[in-house]
Amino acid sequence: LSDKLSNAFKKLKNKGKLTESDVKEAMREVRLALLEADVNFKVAKNFTNKVTERAIGQDVMESLTPAQMVVKIVNEELTALMGGEEEKIKFASKPPTVIMMCGLQGSGKTTHTAKLAKMLKSQGRRPLLVACDIYRPAAIDQLKVVGAKAGAPVFEMGKKNPVKIAKEAIKHAKDYGNDVVILDTAGRLHIDEELMEELKNIKKEVNPDEILLVIDSMTGQDAVNVAKSFNDLLEITGVILTKLDGDTRGGAALSVKEVTGKPIKFCGTGEKLEDLEVFHPDRMASRILGMGDVLTLIEDVEAKLDEKKAEAVAKKMMENKMDFNDLLQQFEQIKKMGPIKGILGKIPGLGKQLENADIDDRQIDWCEAIIYSMTQAEREKPSLINASRKKRIAAGSGRKVEEVNRLLKQLEQMQKMMKQFTGKGKKGKRRAMMK
Ligand code: GDP
Ligand code: MG
Repeated sequence: LSDKLSNAFKKLKNKGKLTESDVKEAMREVRLALLEADVNFKVAKNFTNKVTERAIGQDVMESLTPAQMVVKIVNEELTALMGGEEEKIKFASKPPTVIMMCGLQGSGKTTHTAKLAKMLKSQGRRPLLVACDIYRPAAIDQLKVVGAKAGAPVFEMGKKNPVKIAKEAIKHAKDYGNDVVILDTAGRLHIDEELMEELKNIKKEVNPDEILLVIDSMTGQDAVNVAKSFNDLLEITGVILTKLDGDTRGGAALSVKEVTGKPIKFCGTGEKLEDLEVFHPDRMASRILGMGDVLTLIEDVEAKLDEKKAEAVAKKMMENKMDFNDLLQQFEQIKKMGPIKGILGKIPGLGKQLENADIDDRQIDWCEAIIYSMTQAEREKPSLINASRKKRIAAGSGRKVEEVNRLLKQLEQMQKMMKQFTGKGKKGKRRAMMK
């Protein structure tokens, strides 16, 4: 390692505690990021004030700058604020579970009624979709179309009173063995009393297990007022945040959670029925913060942490001390990531090609077995391994001598490669280290 670099690392250590000016400076950046993400102004201010208080005086982690430390705290607090963990549908102890969808016109109620149905079906449930939107022209037909796509039956009674439709639908569900009833209610362009009255009546009469408010994430600031009104009048149980496939940064998620205190349970990420995801607070936090200057800060943090890990490995490699114990450690790391085929399969474009590829995870186990059959001295000094030792190791591990040879070659090649890198100038070293 170049002296310059190790000095830089030393400087970053023992940063002490976050000072007020550290925090205030970084927090300006954070507040900007929140506003850019369409977080409600008041919510952003409350949030940064709270986090500022918490952050001042905290220890700065080794290898982070104070600004990075603040962003790390902010990220954690944002995640916690949005619920921390994933939330699921609460099913009734006695079926059918009744889910009432509500929200403004165009927010995605009908689409998400079908998306939910599809998801529930894949979990072995038998949802019934109910057309309670009797106002919008073609609303019933729309539900029938998406219901058919989801493979779920649709209950409708034309333009009858929605309260009556809901009650009849629940009766129908009991008769036909549907264990979940999803009510697709009407929306309006704006909140109005008539609509709220109707929704309140449905709630009173059927007592839903879940009242899910569907909110269009693109509406930004408006989301707060909508969420507040619906929650005040209906006491919702959760939120579905839709259209996150757009270019919004999803600040609505934070505002809605802060104002209603209700969890975001799902998000919609496209027009197709499979575009429904369980809401992940940590991912949302990164998305809200994840742009512009703040993103750079977070990237720096990650690079620094990787750099530290790489530093340790690189040091060993450059001193040419790589031995079989290091190789064992690497195998362990690889195994932690899961089956190799699965990992490679996640790389776009590779998945299909791999379908018939012969990748045997046991190869790692075999290599490990060979190393475990070596003595500690042999692992540290492979040149000790002569022909008779090879035979002993092969017998001990149940592998062939050729395989022992191959493993020895592999380590040798790695050591050679390292020599090449260390032979080069400082730039070469650094690049090798970051690999
Ligand atoms: P409703 O009036 O609340 O029932 O809303 P709809 O379900 O009819 O949806 C209104 C429009 O938004 C339709 O064109 C949907 O295809 C579209 N939409 C719904 N959810 C999403 C989503 O998550 N992403 C995208 N891109 N479009 C969506
Ligand atoms: Mg609709």
